[in-house]
Amino acid sequence: MPYSYSQPSTSEASWNSGEANADANWGVPEKCFCGKPVKLEVCKTGYRQGDRVYKCPMLKAEEYESRNHLIQWWDQAVTEELEKVNHKLDSALRHGQLACNHALESIRETIHLMQGEIETLKERLLAKEVEIDRLRALLSTW
Ligand SMILES: [Zn+2]
Repeated sequence: MPYSYSQPSTSEASWNSGEANADANWGVPEKCFCGKPVKLEVCKTGYRQGDRVYKCPMLKAEEYESRNHLIQWWDQAVTEELEKVNHKLDSALRHGQLACNHALESIRETIHLMQGEIETLKERLLAKEVEIDRLRALLSTW
């Protein structure tokens, strides 16, 4: 779907919207729609003169509007890229938290089982002590 990144509607797309997820070029672009690797240039004309811009090499130097080739202002691209990185970080942290919770749950379960075994062993030990006392008492009467 060839469209220019200079369109304001595109820049409003948030990372969580399906539109943004479906758009592999969201963030810092690597390739134009035509397949050519984009180049980072400095804008030489117009109100954004001096600003950096990602552009398809198929476009002329003074061209900053195109339907068929990619034009993406550097600041917009980097902002989107940061949002992408943040999203990945959040999701990695969530996964880490889930894995951690799962490990803790497993440890709790093991501790619970061990406590049960300890209780059983204590009861058996007490029964043996009672038995030993009874046998001692029996022996002392001899
Ligand atoms: Zn192109």
